[in-house]
Amino acid sequence: MEKLKELFVKKDLCPQVILTDRDLALMKVIEIVFPRSTNLLCRFHINKNVGAKCKQHVVNDLQKTIDTLWMEVVWASDEVEYGQRLHQLEQTSVDYIGFINYVKDTWLTPHKHRFVGAWINRVLHLGNTTTNRVEYAHWKLKQMLGNSICDMVKCWKAMNSNLRLQLGNIRASFQKSFYEVEHTHISPFYGYLRGSISRAALRRIVEELLRVDYVGTNRKICGCTLRTSYGLPCACQLGRYALGGIPIPIDVVHVHWRKLTMEVELEVGADDGS
Ligand SMILES: [Zn+2]
Repeated sequence: MEKLKELFVKKDLCPQVILTDRDLALMKVIEIVFPRSTNLLCRFHINKNVGAKCKQHVVNDLQKTIDTLWMEVVWASDEVEYGQRLHQLEQTSVDYIGFINYVKDTWLTPHKHRFVGAWINRVLHLGNTTTNRVEYAHWKLKQMLGNSICDMVKCWKAMNSNLRLQLGNIRASFQKSFYEVEHTHISPFYGYLRGSISRAALRRIVEELLRVDYVGTNRKICGCTLRTSYGLPCACQLGRYALGGIPIPIDVVHVHWRKLTMEVELEVGADDGS
């Protein structure tokens, strides 16, 4: 963690979010080295563990129901909803005290603010709620290494070509975001964003626009999750632009989605610690 900290260009900066598994020693160190960062927990691995525990404790017929109820708890978008959904899960699992105790003692009581929607929707995680991306990179590297007995030179070569491959893929995706326009993004509403933000971000905005039909410009109904946790304009914001007949301004898109180059831009790219 100290070494990681040294890599930051501006020394007083820290990552806003660090995503880990429930590795208590690691989590403790993060608290010490990056006290201002939010330590989220990988949802994918939590759900996998809870799923396995459910299989172990619960009879076949109920497993699917309880698994779904658990997912609903994880996705609860506010604290009231969380309370209601947890209550439902408890009711349904009443005969499986070992399971419900595990879920509460290992996950919900100590860590709910690290993976349940009601809490993490307020954190600017830019869509990173699982460690799957890193896991994939690690898997890819292992493929390139082939086995666990190669020497230093072979390891270095494999790591180097893995990084080069990744860099190539990222550059290609940037090129696409620059030059290729998707049919759904032709509207003048996206005029300031086309070619200036990633296509993945544009797709999310297009999806969010569908919510405007029932959100309108109402903040309360909106919940504004896309703005607070992705750094992208949420439905109520989009509703206001649509109503005013103005295109979406570029500055409501977080700089993360606007970075379409691998060059280091000290003034623009590194000012918010992301
Ligand atoms: Zn909103």
